[in-house]
Amino acid sequence: MNDNSDRRNPLHPSRRSETRVVTAGRDPASYHGFVNPPVYHASTVLYPTAEDYVAHRARYQYGRRGTPTTEALEWALQELEGPNCAGVALLPSGLAAISTALLSVVHAGDHLLVSDSAYTPARNFCDKILTRLGVTTTYYDPLIGGAIAELCRPNTRAVYLESPGSLSFEMQDVPAIAQAAHGKGVIVLMDNTWASPLYYRPLDAGVDLVIQAGTKYIGGHSDVMLGTVSANNAALASLKDTVRLSGLCEGPDDVYLGLRGLRTLAVRLDRHYKSGLAVARWLEQRPEVLRVLHPAMDSHLGHAIWKRDFTGACGLFSIVLKPVSQTAVYAFLDALELFGIGASWGGYESLAIPFDCTPTRTATRWAPGGPTVRFHIGLEAVDDLIADLERGFAALAAAARG
Ligand SMILES: *Cc1c(COP(=O)(O)O)cnc(C)c1O
Repeated sequence: MNDNSDRRNPLHPSRRSETRVVTAGRDPASYHGFVNPPVYHASTVLYPTAEDYVAHRARYQYGRRGTPTTEALEWALQELEGPNCAGVALLPSGLAAISTALLSVVHAGDHLLVSDSAYTPARNFCDKILTRLGVTTTYYDPLIGGAIAELCRPNTRAVYLESPGSLSFEMQDVPAIAQAAHGKGVIVLMDNTWASPLYYRPLDAGVDLVIQAGTKYIGGHSDVMLGTVSANNAALASLKDTVRLSGLCEGPDDVYLGLRGLRTLAVRLDRHYKSGLAVARWLEQRPEVLRVLHPAMDSHLGHAIWKRDFTGACGLFSIVLKPVSQTAVYAFLDALELFGIGASWGGYESLAIPFDCTPTRTATRWAPGGPTVRFHIGLEAVDDLIADLERGFAALAAAARG
């Protein structure tokens, strides 16, 4: 239906991604020259005649089916994902993007392979909804690489990746897994929220469906829920059918916030990357810290894969503290003034949360050697963030002394 591709900006693979986040999906000539598309609040589309209506003869048919606003964001994301992206679907949250992408590939009786490091609500969807539909899930060691082939059964339909894991930060060998899976006729899905298409393009590595929680860096201001799924040519038709038949759509204001956020994604990510590394390096020198889990640091187990595949890092990483009481960890977090305590990430503000992967893991053992804390480094000055963390460590020491 949305075949009016002549209105789309041509793909410019030679231009740098910083340029493409600015130019992608824009079409001012269609909007009287205004830089941005209008926000279409729309349900009904009027047809000129009864015959046109019956024949669905219209550029747009119904609000749920897409508007110039939703297309602008879809086309922009498609350009960023690169030439292997055949289309993008917008969903009301990152989790809805995960569930919809999975539903677009599985059939009753299928088997699914999911990384043990995957976002916990993705696991819950597999365990609580897909199980009911006759789809079984096996969790696998995120470091498995090409040996994923050995876990593929005759009924294995898809393998699901998240790299790095957004709490534990294992890096997956995406090209090796994709190649091994395709050798078995298995579809590959990946949650790429951490890197975004600016720092990693999974479709180029053979991934079929790429999920992003647009809620995080695309929105970038902690004020929107948004999910996106990007598909290659093989996966697109089923993805679009699943979205359409399920009646899923994203509200126009939230689509617009996604589009608005996207335009500054490159500069924001660059700052999150630099500040995140600076804070991570400072933390690595602290006597209270056992290990820093940041893929862009030499000390990280997955650093070689990150260096080979990714062109940057976002502001999200974790640390392992040397063994201290839970009271001391909470005292550390509660003393922070600039770091908020709360779920999600990707906004302009810094966050810190305690976490424990022990209860969720089924394929691997989570034994980091001490309490773990995840940080999101926002756009504040690094010096101020470090001063805040010093305040936290002072509180931790006081609480540890009792
Ligand atoms: C937050 C998150 C999601 C879910 O996104 P929502 O918009 O909160 O539903 C999915 N994957 C990862 C890695 C996330 O961090």
